[in-house]
Amino acid sequence: MKKEFSCLLANEQETMHWAFSFAKIIKGGDVIALEGDLGAGKTTICKWLCKALGFNGVVSSPSYAIVNEYQNEPFIYHLDLYRIKNETDLQDIGIDSFIYSNAITLIEWAKMAKSFPLNIKYTVAIKIINENTREITVFNS
Ligand code: ADP
Ligand code: MG
Repeated sequence: MKKEFSCLLANEQETMHWAFSFAKIIKGGDVIALEGDLGAGKTTICKWLCKALGFNGVVSSPSYAIVNEYQNEPFIYHLDLYRIKNETDLQDIGIDSFIYSNAITLIEWAKMAKSFPLNIKYTVAIKIINENTREITVFNS
């Protein structure tokens, strides 16, 4: 995986601005993985990305439903794979219908899919530096 760029975001407002910039380079059909510990800001980034992509509804963590669908142009799927145990669980949620669609697919905890191919275009890795500061690194695959 090629490293694209890193930056430090000193507070959530800077994260919002970063998400609005990143949203300009993503297109329908792209799958974006978000990695980082609990509370790193995966859902927060999804929230601002959806807003930047034109979605005005509620963006919440899909940790129980596993997938949230947002009526938007482009359509957005928001997944959280934290509770996925194996490939069968991924097949059961119909993963291929999300990752090989014209929609943008945002995937929190993508690493839970292990070696299952998720057609990932960008990985956004979030590191907690302190209470309000995050280091973001984007990898292009
Ligand atoms: P995750 O989905 O990774 O578990 P959340 O997005 O649910 O994380 O929570 C991240 C928390 O960290 C939120 O309460 C958010 O307000 C807070 N936060 C503080 N600083 C930042 C920042 N710079 N960027 C993103 N979130 C931040
Ligand atoms: Mg989350």
